[in-house]
Amino acid sequence: MAGRLLVVDDNPLNVKLLTAKLTREYYAVLTAENGAQALEIAMREKPDLVLLDVMMPEMDGFEVCQRLKIEPATRNIPVIMVTALSDVQDRVRGLEAGADDFLTKPVNDIALLARVRSCLRLKSLMDEWRLREGLEVEGEDLSSPANAHVLLLEEQPHEADIIRKNVERAGFVCHVAHKSDEIAPLLARHPIDVFLISLGLNTEDGLRVCANLRAQEETRMHPLVVYADESDIGRIAKALDLGANDYIFKPVDALELQARLRTQIRNKRGYDRLRLSYERSMAMAITDPLTGAYNRHYFEQNVPRLFERYASNKKPVSIAIADIDHFKKINDTYGHHAGDQVLQEIVRRLHGGMRFLDVIVRLGGEEFVILMPDTPHEAALRVAERLRRSVAERPVSLARPQVDLPVTLSIGVAGTDIGEADAGTLLQKADAALYRAKESGRDKVMGAEN
Ligand code: GH3
Ligand code: MG
Ligand code: MG
Repeated sequence: MAGRLLVVDDNPLNVKLLTAKLTREYYAVLTAENGAQALEIAMREKPDLVLLDVMMPEMDGFEVCQRLKIEPATRNIPVIMVTALSDVQDRVRGLEAGADDFLTKPVNDIALLARVRSCLRLKSLMDEWRLREGLEVEGEDLSSPANAHVLLLEEQPHEADIIRKNVERAGFVCHVAHKSDEIAPLLARHPIDVFLISLGLNTEDGLRVCANLRAQEETRMHPLVVYADESDIGRIAKALDLGANDYIFKPVDALELQARLRTQIRNKRGYDRLRLSYERSMAMAITDPLTGAYNRHYFEQNVPRLFERYASNKKPVSIAIADIDHFKKINDTYGHHAGDQVLQEIVRRLHGGMRFLDVIVRLGGEEFVILMPDTPHEAALRVAERLRRSVAERPVSLARPQVDLPVTLSIGVAGTDIGEADAGTLLQKADAALYRAKESGRDKVMGAEN
């Protein structure tokens, strides 16, 4: 994921070094040599990320960060603070100033790229979310990951205990697995948000654990943080290649651990939310709000695909068109609201009689199409008969007004195995059969003629 980064440092050599590393990874790099210039460029250029030196004359990094986070135009730009030494005090101040992440000097290449990638990913998710929802994401929800669940894999009980306490101190719930076998049961019982995996296990390979987590559907997208001795940097690099999102050196510093977990959890919450809103908008675009059946839009999108498959595998496809009999009378007698309730109940009953792969579409008004893949004409007739009966066998009971209404359906059926047919022709045949069902007294199923 390429992006535009702003590197801020008063030392030209540092700027040059960072710029070289980042351009090598195809990032576009803007630079500033002091706080004032950084603010001005951030406002004008809206970079995707700011790498901000802490120690600068006049305006230091904390102040720059604070100002970026206050200004509405720049507050969504992630900031990574670059702190000299591993001064714990500085990290805390940085996070309080609103920094999203931090790096220590001298900046290690692996650390730099891992953190840049993770921040950019979060930013692009958030941007997309804002775009889709047309909303401003207000902090609380995403940045205070209360009740987040962390799954820790650490075989040394003493070490596990220390880390667990630090995780809990950040307000998270920590579940400890001492062997990788214990991961699956914990995952089944708790809504895990992030994995924290030791790469220094004696009895198994932490890298394999990471690879397995990435391979499984359920955990593929979960944030994964590893920790290891500094001398194990090679294995850390391998873990990042396998898809780990971040890492920490041992001995694990409590504040650093908490900050990194918080970032990952925020990342995941943003992603989950984005996916949810995406699924919801997809569902809204293709379903009928009254009955929950698919709508005409879905029908137009999907029928061609269904028929393409039919053309390639030659398994028959059948269509049924069902129309409520004398529905107008229900509306006229009991009102539109009663009619709506009848429509909802009919769809419930149709769903009850359909098989897993069958699909129901509300084509409009009181007319429904049932798409039956891999179903020959004869079988579809039996399905349709079952559906007809499920409606006719007992009246629809309404709550308001309180009445029991006898309702019936007429259904026309056509399958591709009785005379080759494309989608349009098949629909016409089913529609003609429906017409005959109506003509011959309603509450009937009719099959298309060859
Ligand atoms: P037939 O047995 O010949 O199908 O008679 P019918 O009365 O069912 O058919 P007609 O096409 O004359 O009337 C359909 C009625 O369905 C008219 C329309 O007001 C009603 N309708 C269509 N959509 C809705 C809806 O969303 N809610 C309600 N309550 N009524 C609807
Ligand atoms: Mg400096
Ligand atoms: Mg009707």
